[in-house]
Amino acid sequence: MLPVDVAGVEEAVVDVAEVVDFLHNPDPYTALGAKIPRGVILTGPPGCGKTLLARAIAGEAGVPFFQVSGSEFVEMYVGVGAARVRDTFEQAQKVAPSIIFIDEIDAIGRSRSSGHGNNNDEREQTLNEILTKMDGFGEMNVPVIVLAATNRDDILDAALMRAGRFDRKVNIHLPDLKGREQIIKVHTAKKPLEEGTNLLEVVRGMTGVSGADLANLANEAALIAVRRKGDTIVANDFELAKDKVTMGAKSGLKMKEHDKRNTAYHEAGHAIVGYLQENFDQCTKVSILPRANALGITQFTPEEDKVSMTKAQIFSTIKMAYGGRAAEEIIGGADNITTGASNDIQRITSMLTSCIMQWGLSDSVGQLAYASEYGDHLAHSVQRLPYSEKTAQMMDEEKQALSQKLYSETKKLLLDNRSKMDAMAHALLKWETIEVEQIEAIMEGREPPTPKWFIEPTAPVVLSKE
Ligand code: ADP
Ligand code: MG
Ligand code: ZN
Repeated sequence: MLPVDVAGVEEAVVDVAEVVDFLHNPDPYTALGAKIPRGVILTGPPGCGKTLLARAIAGEAGVPFFQVSGSEFVEMYVGVGAARVRDTFEQAQKVAPSIIFIDEIDAIGRSRSSGHGNNNDEREQTLNEILTKMDGFGEMNVPVIVLAATNRDDILDAALMRAGRFDRKVNIHLPDLKGREQIIKVHTAKKPLEEGTNLLEVVRGMTGVSGADLANLANEAALIAVRRKGDTIVANDFELAKDKVTMGAKSGLKMKEHDKRNTAYHEAGHAIVGYLQENFDQCTKVSILPRANALGITQFTPEEDKVSMTKAQIFSTIKMAYGGRAAEEIIGGADNITTGASNDIQRITSMLTSCIMQWGLSDSVGQLAYASEYGDHLAHSVQRLPYSEKTAQMMDEEKQALSQKLYSETKKLLLDNRSKMDAMAHALLKWETIEVEQIEAIMEGREPPTPKWFIEPTAPVVLSKE
């Protein structure tokens, strides 16, 4: 087997390793009554090392490993796919403990209600066979673990995710700055680099690219060096290669400088407004690394579980949510605000609606509920709305007024703290992700310390060597 280095996915490796350990060494688990995990699904954007990780596990697990790919089944005649699955599961059972790996499971495991491809029957039979076999293994406690990988866990049939099937999910994210550095190291390990080449600088601006893009980058840089008849790869070769690679980047998530700056200010806006609210949760993390459906994240961590919220806390939450949009408006002007805030705007709208129609928190509308906790949809479904035209108008006006008041307070707060907002956006563009230490320094007007994770040297996880 070839050496496989999977870098920057430590968390996923740890999660998967635990499951593999179960196979090797089931006694301590079963002694405590723990069941053998049945199915583990690796999910994440394309090119982030899911297949690579599964292969590395195959080399490392020390148990037989069977691999099938969902895309193989798509072309098959009805019944063939199901027979393949049955066959694979039977073989795996014979030599158990063992692992079955189903790559690109979305090709077969697509939700049955969605889409009507040509091979629907085929897909459905294959899917049913997988489910039946997994249930059977569960009942008999057969030590076979089914590992699967997908780029699209959002379209998978709910039946797959049910308890006793793929009930463990391991997320693989796009690599952060440090992860990107590790991955490019892996892919340049056997290439002659000019002495003193700083790989961290090479990947610094490449927020949003995948591991596959980085492998590609290393290769392109080598080709460019050959073309100019160099004997080592130099920084400029990487620069030229970057343009080529990012233009063809499959992830589609590669962010342009402009978008990145906008996102940095957007997230800084949330963080600063949240930070400055009294009795608000601690801001623990801000990042401009794209996640599923989000351009960045700002994370607040409550000290304890909340059972209810005060009116002041709700308004603080709304302002925090407006912080992103307000920051965008401050730096780019009202014409350049973006749809990046659409989730925020939706959350704010639903909170304001609840304040007025459900929680009795509006002074002018009063302590009355005009909608159930299911929102006003319920009201629309009955013949007559449970309030008069006049009340409806009053509620609309109150919603407008509150929203405008809270938004302008948010904007003022950011304008008053403009230098902190600039400092935080700058830190985000430099490090991509910042945590409590940096956030507090910025808010106290100090120079933010370099993040610890950024300084500490970390070696790639080498799962297998030839
Ligand atoms: P996925 O299955 O998630 O779509 P792959 O595992 O097929 O992605 O990755 C494609 C290629 O990209 C790998 O063969 C490897 O060269 C490179 N790659 C992706 N992720 C990593 C990583 N985390 N570490 C090292 N190389 C990676
Ligand atoms: Mg793959
Ligand atoms: Zn936002």
